[in-house]
Amino acid sequence: MRYIEPHAHMVSRITDDYRDMLASGCAAVCEPAFWAGFDRSSPQGFYDYFCQLTDYEPKRAWKFGLPHFCWLCINPKEAEDVKLAEEVVALIPQFLGRANVLGIGEIDLNKNSRNELRVLELHLDLAARHNQMILVHTPHLEDKLKGTKLILEVVKADKRINPERVIIDHVEGHTVKLVLDAGFWAGMTLYPETKCMAARAVDILECYGAERLWLNSACDWGQSVPLAVPYAALEMRRRGHGPEFVDRVIYGNPLRFLSQSPRFKLSDG
Ligand SMILES: [Zn+2]
Repeated sequence: MRYIEPHAHMVSRITDDYRDMLASGCAAVCEPAFWAGFDRSSPQGFYDYFCQLTDYEPKRAWKFGLPHFCWLCINPKEAEDVKLAEEVVALIPQFLGRANVLGIGEIDLNKNSRNELRVLELHLDLAARHNQMILVHTPHLEDKLKGTKLILEVVKADKRINPERVIIDHVEGHTVKLVLDAGFWAGMTLYPETKCMAARAVDILECYGAERLWLNSACDWGQSVPLAVPYAALEMRRRGHGPEFVDRVIYGNPLRFLSQSPRFKLSDG
């Protein structure tokens, strides 16, 4: 089995996780910027985090021969302070030239507030001005449908952005069709319990096909499973899906989307 892990917050994981991912067939890992579990107190905190994502973490992964890529942004949980968010967004361009940066993400809404929307638009403008790909997380639980609709409206309103270069992550059964019909890619985030578990993700693949869909783990400082993608592959095989289908979902599709960035290269070529 081979796979690409498109969503793992490795700064909060131990080194053994890299070893286990590699042993399970991982060919590359991508790390979106996210909330640290606490609000950072200044733009300098983000500067240090972006250095960690673009300098230290790829070196740690490469000790296992695993290519590491990242996405940069300020998380909506910290975006209520628009002035802080503006200062953080202004820091990002100096990092966009670094070798492992794929684009802007994972941007999102949290409470669907006016300030969060403003910061979402700031990120979209940043991506459009610098011709960057975009990774969008979607709000959790009861706000998911409303938040997803709102996010799609805002992204579609910026005509500079090509939907084929945008992936909307954390889709669920009731939001995936909206995302795919609008021309975006869709990501399913695998959780150990509740939300999108492996069985539900495979249901979605069986309903909507595997044209513009990928699977990713949750893999952060919370309850999560770094090997969720290969485990979901086992569920696909158990249900009778052939090795070509599985390979397409967990390797071919992320490779196709991510290769839109010239930075995205696997170590075997
Ligand atoms: Zn995340």
